[in-house]
Amino acid sequence: MRYFSLNNHQHFSNFENAVVRGLAPDKGLYFPEKIEKLPASFFEELPKLTNLEIGYQSIRQFVGDEIPEEDLKKIISKTLDFEFPVVPVENGISSLELFHGPTLAFKDVGARFMAGCLGYFSQKSNLGNITVLVATSGDTGGAVANGFLGVEGVEVVILYPKGKVSDLQEKQLTTLGQNITALEVDGVFDDCQAMVKQAFLDETITTHRKLTSANSINVARWLPQMFYYFIAAKQIQEKPVFAVPSGNFGNICAGLMARELGLPVAHFVAANNVNNTVVDFMDSGKYQPKPSTATISNAMDVGDPSNFVRILQLFGNEHQALKKDFSAYSFSDEDTRKTIREVFQKENYILDPHGAVGYLGLQQYLKETASEAPGIFLETAHPVKFLDTVEEEIQTKVPVPESVRSLFDKKKKSLQISSKYEDLKRFLLDEN
Ligand SMILES: *Cc1c(COP(=O)(O)O)cnc(C)c1O
Repeated sequence: MRYFSLNNHQHFSNFENAVVRGLAPDKGLYFPEKIEKLPASFFEELPKLTNLEIGYQSIRQFVGDEIPEEDLKKIISKTLDFEFPVVPVENGISSLELFHGPTLAFKDVGARFMAGCLGYFSQKSNLGNITVLVATSGDTGGAVANGFLGVEGVEVVILYPKGKVSDLQEKQLTTLGQNITALEVDGVFDDCQAMVKQAFLDETITTHRKLTSANSINVARWLPQMFYYFIAAKQIQEKPVFAVPSGNFGNICAGLMARELGLPVAHFVAANNVNNTVVDFMDSGKYQPKPSTATISNAMDVGDPSNFVRILQLFGNEHQALKKDFSAYSFSDEDTRKTIREVFQKENYILDPHGAVGYLGLQQYLKETASEAPGIFLETAHPVKFLDTVEEEIQTKVPVPESVRSLFDKKKKSLQISSKYEDLKRFLLDEN
């Protein structure tokens, strides 16, 4: 399978190179050259297919012959070894729970798939050691650390802002050891991100180490998110409306890709917090990035969503075509809090702040269009990850899942550095 750069449609790469590089040399996002619909038989058999079979059939064309069937299936089966239930919340509205993975957020799927692919290529092609360098404001770091743990030939370096991630998130980053190093930066998330960006541009470092990133621009993190939509569809009878709490728009873009492969979907709703760049674009047709604003659904505090160009590409850059299948809404923290409270009181269902925004988007779309289609919002994180906000609204303890209980007893291991780039540089050049 060939991928082209969205900055230059004449620049091609194979899957391996797209995964190892992340971005094209011209800084464009990679996009598949051809998208082939899945056969009608796939959709007829869908309710009977295993998740592994669904994953394999849907992603196979994007990997091509670069990973043999047996190895690709091994990677997918590790990626999907937990549940993705569609849980009814109220009449006409269900939650697709994506938080049953090891770090309790949907990013586990993308991170594990990418780790599997990178591990495979590192061994097969003798790439030597690869360093995955990421800055995290919370969820990404945990999922990446967990996904890459013990993958041979890959070292992971995660920068996180000291005192700015939740206790649970910090434990997820700092207790694994092995090939995972957590750098605790005396600064804020923007400092971490700036340091990482500078490292990618620093030739003293890139000649010393092979660096790659693990954010959702990487095709191996983006594409496996299609699996959720097929796995949801196998559990329901009718064509659904999907509402997706969106930040960088990788997840919803993968849903649109699943539809491109033939999955019947009535409509897609992008649900945003006050970071509403895409909502404005849908109204005006003009894309104007903004600085991000901090909210309680902080994984969606993005003012310039990196995957939106892929969505435009899927619709041939036609604003009207996009509008037919896709809507976007924006909600305040106050709306979000009220929803967490009310849905718990009325339906006894605990939403996290991101899922609550998804629920709101779905509700608004169904109301506005008087649609009869079953509505599914994606619940992207377990409420325990946002304990303070959620417990404040529901006035009850959130049950802590068994899988994370032991984390609280483990010892944190991090390397403290300042927010000066030279500190990171010394570490990456092994000068410590
Ligand atoms: C990352 C994240 C999102 C946003 O997903 P995108 O693919 O960036 O749109 C939503 N909810 C949670 C909990 C997340 O961690």
